[in-house]
This record gives sequence, C-alpha cells and structure tokens, in this order.
Amino acid sequence: MKYDCLVVGAGFAGCAAARLLAESGRKVLVVERLKHLAGHSHDYRNEYGIFIHSYGPHIFHTNNQEVWQFVNRFTRFHNYQHRVLSYIQGRLLPFPINLDTLNEVFDCKLKGGEAREFLRMEAAKAVYNQPPENFRDVVVSQVGEYLYELFFKNYTIKQWQKDPEEILPEVALRIPVRENRDDRYFTDKHQGIPASGYTDLAQKILNHRNIELSLETDYFDIRNNLESRLTVYTGELDRFFDYKYGRLQYRSLDFKYETLDQEFFQPAAVVNYPNDHSWTRITEYKYFLGEKTWKTTISYEFPKATGEPYYVVMSGDNVDKRKLYQADVDKLNGKYLFLGRLAEYKYYNMDQVVEMVINRIGEYLKR
Ligand code: FAD
Ligand code: UDP
Repeated sequence: MKYDCLVVGAGFAGCAAARLLAESGRKVLVVERLKHLAGHSHDYRNEYGIFIHSYGPHIFHTNNQEVWQFVNRFTRFHNYQHRVLSYIQGRLLPFPINLDTLNEVFDCKLKGGEAREFLRMEAAKAVYNQPPENFRDVVVSQVGEYLYELFFKNYTIKQWQKDPEEILPEVALRIPVRENRDDRYFTDKHQGIPASGYTDLAQKILNHRNIELSLETDYFDIRNNLESRLTVYTGELDRFFDYKYGRLQYRSLDFKYETLDQEFFQPAAVVNYPNDHSWTRITEYKYFLGEKTWKTTISYEFPKATGEPYYVVMSGDNVDKRKLYQADVDKLNGKYLFLGRLAEYKYYNMDQVVEMVINRIGEYLKR
C-alpha cells in the first residue's frame, strides 16, 4: 500500500507530526503497537468517575506560545497548578525546596532575602565538582549535602537504580530551588490538564480526513509491505537499528492502585517518598481535573528495569551509545524523521515534544 507519510507511534510526537503532515495535504498512515492512543500520556475515566493517567501523573506546562496555541486548537485545558509534597522524617514538606521548606527543615524563620545566603553557606560546607559534572554536583552546589541527602539522594537511587554521580546534570536541572514561598512544581506561563483527557486530545489531533490509524500494529511487522516517501519514527531508537551498538537503557514502572472510601487521601496530587518505603511517590488523581466524588483513587509508583519503556536513562554510557545511533539516523538521508522521547532518547516533557515536532516537520515541509 502507498501513503505519502507513515507515522510510527500515536503519542504526542506521532499525533502532532501526523496532523501537521495531513494539513499540508499529505496522506498519512499512523501505526501504533498498543491498543490505545496517546502513548505514555494515555488516560481513562475509571468506574468511580476519576480520570487516571495510565503511565503516571501528567501535567501539561509550557512557556511556548506556539505550542500552547497548537494544543488549544483541539481541547480546552482545565486550569491546574501542580503541587508536590515530600515525606521527610514524618512530615509533609513543600517540594521543590522553597523558603517554607527551609524554615521547616531547619526550624528557623528565614525571610525572602535571606534564603540565598543561607543556601550558599550550606553549599560551602560540601565538596563537589564545579562546574557540576553529575546529578549530585548540581544539587549539592545549590542546596548543600544535608538537603541533598534528605530530598534527593535516595529518591534518585530508587528511581534510576544508579549512583546519582552516574546521572547527568540535566536530570537535576529539571528541579528548581526557590528562594520565595512559591510551592508550585512548575512556574510556566501555561499549565493545565486537557478537560476531556489526553486520550481524547490525541483522538482530536488525529481527526483529519488525510489520516488513517491502525492500532495494535507494530511497525516492524508491516514495514516491508508499505511504501511511503517519509517515515516519522517515534519508537525506541535502538530497536530501529536492531540493537547494533547494544541496548540503550530504559526505566519502567509498576503501579499499585487503590480506591478508598474517603473523599481525599493526601493534601496534594503527588507526595514523594525519598527515604521511606519502596515506592517513589503516591499520586491522587482527582486533583488533576477536580472531580467531586466521595471516593478517591491513588497509585503507588515502583520503578523497575524492564517492561514498557517509560524513561530514558541519562547517564554517560547511554548518551555515548545514543550518539552512535544518531550518526546512523543522520545517514538515512531525510527519508526518516526520528522524533520524540524514545526515538531521540531525550528526557522530553510533552510540550518539548510538540515544540520539536512543530520545528522539525516545519523544516521538512519547507524542503
Ligand atoms: P510516547 O508517548 O512514548 O509515544 C511513543 C509511541 O510509539 C507509543 O505509543 C509506543 O507504543 C509507540 N511505538 C513504539 N514503537 C512502536 C512500533 N514499533 N510500532 C508502532 N508503535 C510503536 N511530560 C510532561 O510534559 N509533564 C508531565 O507531568 C510528565 N509526567 C510524566 C510522568 C511519567 C511517569 C512519565 C513516564 C513521563 C512523563 N512525562 C511528562 C513525559 C511524557 O510522557 C512524554 O514527554 C511524552 O509522552 C512523549 O511523547 P512521545 O510521543 O515522544 O512518546
Ligand atoms: N528527584 C528527587 N527527589 C524528588 C523528586 C525528584 O531526587 O523528590 C529527582 C529524581 O532523580 C528524578 C528527577 O529529580 O528522577 C526528576 O524529577 P521529575 O519530577 O522531573 O521526574 P518525573 O516527573 O519525570 O518522574
């Protein structure tokens, strides 16, 4: 069969790419190996009327006006500001670390202007590489060893099963340190949750007369029967090349769900557990869309090495391997575009995926 474009994967990258190609007049086939749309942002409404994010909590946040306009063409966003607490020594403290966190941990009464000097003194007591070479260096250079050990070290070991000194600085740079009392997880201009869910958003993005969709279809089973001028690949980078340079690492997750006969379980959507228990965090889903129900559904999140690839692992050995694969991608002469978290092996957020797709498909269409 002949299409102008084949898109592999129906996550944010695949859906946005398919839409932009379809709007330029091209006939597009989207193949997705799973039974559902939306990739790792997939969600569904459970029997208690609460939207569950199947692959863990997803909050859309961006400062990019073009990205925000693109997603708002297809859905209304419920205004939601994400807040996270960290369970530390029996107390729930604001995370990322802010002025209130400092005052609670150190039992003091710092005012706004005093936090910077306080943190500088904490960092000055520690030994680390400057400029920072790894996850630990970044955090310790910002907040010192004591807060690093309380909030970061053990969470990071649980999440990645690696010494934080093996993890690249960019992972730590995802988490800000605040000298004020802002307790939101993100400070982007635009934040929210699609009012009818991410799966509905994906469906609406793909709803175009030039797009055909085939679920439960693995690209590697059908690629020899299809002809297309362009293939947009959003699956795992190493799998495309039959693991010729060895396997890239991915992290997966197990979820244990509970629905409780009470209105709320915890005071925020997410509570992190750096030092206690084997889970990393508990998510209470009704916060995201503000559903009014007498029951509540929560999930405990347990990181693991195998299974559905949720996270790319930002360590030196993986990034070196990514470079080898990327050089092979570059040799494919524009007939393929590798887009998204798995295909580029980058720790992208959803908005970064959309931004990159707008740019790369835009360049392709100009050519
Ligand atoms: P994916 O969503 O992984 O989509 C790739 C698709 O390709 C999948 O559906 C896969 O099944 C399909 N596929 C792969 N190989 C094949 C094949 N051979 N044939 C056919 N189909 C194939 N981002 C945020 O912005 N905010 C958040 O709060 C946030 N929280 C997150 C929490 C967790 C626990 C995780 C894991 C991620 C989170 N993210 C968040 C990141 C977000 O999930 C990703 O940025 C985004 O989903 C990536 O989209 P994608 O299309 O690149 O990849
Ligand atoms: N992190 C941590 N303590 C926390 C939360 C995060 O040490 O309480 C570290 C951990 O290494 C994590 C990284 O910061 O993997 C990035 O956190 P983020 O919340 O961005 O992770 P995601 O939402 O992608 O799982």
